[in-house]
Amino acid sequence: MSKSDLFTTITTPNGKTIEQPLGLFINNEWVKTESKLETVNPSTGEVIASVYSASPDDIDKAVVAANAAFKDPSWSEISGSERGDYLYKIYQLIERDRELIASIESLDNGKPYETECLEGDMGEAAEVFKYYAGWADKITGQYIGTQVLGKNKIAFTDPNPIGTVAQIVPWNYPFVMLCWKIAPALATGNTVILKSSEITPLSALYFAKLVQEAGLPKGVVNIVSGYGKDAGARLASHPKIDKVAFTGSTFTGGKIMASAASSNLKNVTLECGGKSPYIVFDDCDFDAAIEWGFTGIFYNKGEVCTSTSRFFIQDTIYDKFVEAFVKFTEENSKVSSPFEKGCTIGPLVSNLQYEKVKKYVELGKKDGAKLLTGEFIDGPGYFAKPFVFADCTDDMTIMKEEIFGPVVAITKFKTTEEVIERANSSDYGLAAALFSSNITKATHVARKLQAGMVWINSNGDSDIHVPFGGVKMSGIGRELGSYALDMYTDHKAIHINLGLDH
Ligand code: NAD
Repeated sequence: MSKSDLFTTITTPNGKTIEQPLGLFINNEWVKTESKLETVNPSTGEVIASVYSASPDDIDKAVVAANAAFKDPSWSEISGSERGDYLYKIYQLIERDRELIASIESLDNGKPYETECLEGDMGEAAEVFKYYAGWADKITGQYIGTQVLGKNKIAFTDPNPIGTVAQIVPWNYPFVMLCWKIAPALATGNTVILKSSEITPLSALYFAKLVQEAGLPKGVVNIVSGYGKDAGARLASHPKIDKVAFTGSTFTGGKIMASAASSNLKNVTLECGGKSPYIVFDDCDFDAAIEWGFTGIFYNKGEVCTSTSRFFIQDTIYDKFVEAFVKFTEENSKVSSPFEKGCTIGPLVSNLQYEKVKKYVELGKKDGAKLLTGEFIDGPGYFAKPFVFADCTDDMTIMKEEIFGPVVAITKFKTTEEVIERANSSDYGLAAALFSSNITKATHVARKLQAGMVWINSNGDSDIHVPFGGVKMSGIGRELGSYALDMYTDHKAIHINLGLDH
């Protein structure tokens, strides 16, 4: 097979030249398949590249490779330090190539290159490998002695990897989500098949090049591009996959859970959608609340699972807040190509997403919400200036459904107990943010909110040391921190009978 079938050269608008893989990465080899999928530059609507797309049969080949790598020579049975060395090597390679990866990611996804992709995403992606490299030789069990169990018995726990893990990621943080998933799975001794989103496959394939360069044993990491209905569905229902870890919409999460249950009851973790509240009390630092509100909803063009898309503003400062927020939004939204200096809002990721956001903006208007700013910009590309709706009520669709775009719905509240109840009246429970200078009140509210993560006097923070995940229909399980290790570990209990008389 000619090398040119499997690679192409891409030059990004910031002048980087990238040797971009196009094939699936199975058993440390680049593999061609029978069909391809096109990935589009959201700034122009033009095709960047066509990558090979996995069919269910191709997935079966990846499963054979990952199953074999788990067994012999076994990735799970090499020492933790050795696995840690591989992870550290990947960390170094991401650091070395961060400008290239950030460039291909911005081109494919549309996120602002310098601030959000190069500094934000790439920093976190590299750090997560360094962090779990450090964990790889510290995964130990527990000893439970006679003092607990009585003189005739001791027990210990034996942590084991779960096995072959399928990981399915979305398009909004293609590279970061991949790193959050692969690093802890490898640190704990699992083998991996990761499927990228069909909308943004490029950075995952670049990552596979780094895996090859780091010299990981074959079959330990397999990266596939492909559609959800073919490749994704096969991963979720495959009887020889032991776990599926998914990030994406709640709708797809439900399908994955059903497939996992009806195939082999595989272990499942889900990171799904959200409709997170942002609560601003009248005793807050007003300017900070405006600024963090902007970040909370418009970072990454609003294509963030934790984006705080429902604003609850206390009635005493409501008018002042709305006016200042609209002004701040208009002044700070530089809508442009993600490679332009100072860009804060790049294009929405795809035409599909652009049309979806349009539909919600129309629904907001129809339901009677007051549109104060925002507009769609005619193509090429999928650009929009952020939308601010005020005077919203809880029954409006834009207050209830995840839009996943630069649209905020603002409403007012009077009392603390009222806002807790209204904020919690959502099927989702991913995140929440609140602003108040009264830490007693803020802590009370934070503890009452039904959310996996709450930010007090801040918004949208994520940190590799701190668990990330949601409750209710936002997900099951946690990523990051030491919590992610448990998501990829079975703790076997071994009991020893010391009673020698029988
Ligand atoms: P999506 O659910 O459409 O797709 C996510 C992934 O699932 C893709 O790789 C897709 O190919 C795959 N998929 C689709 N159908 C499948 C099926 N039947 N079986 C198996 N796999 C399938 O989501 P999206 O549009 O890519 O991403 C946006 C969603 O992701 C939003 O709802 C957002 O909130 C959520 N998200 C959540 C988090 C989190 O950590 N909670 C983070 C990022 C994004």
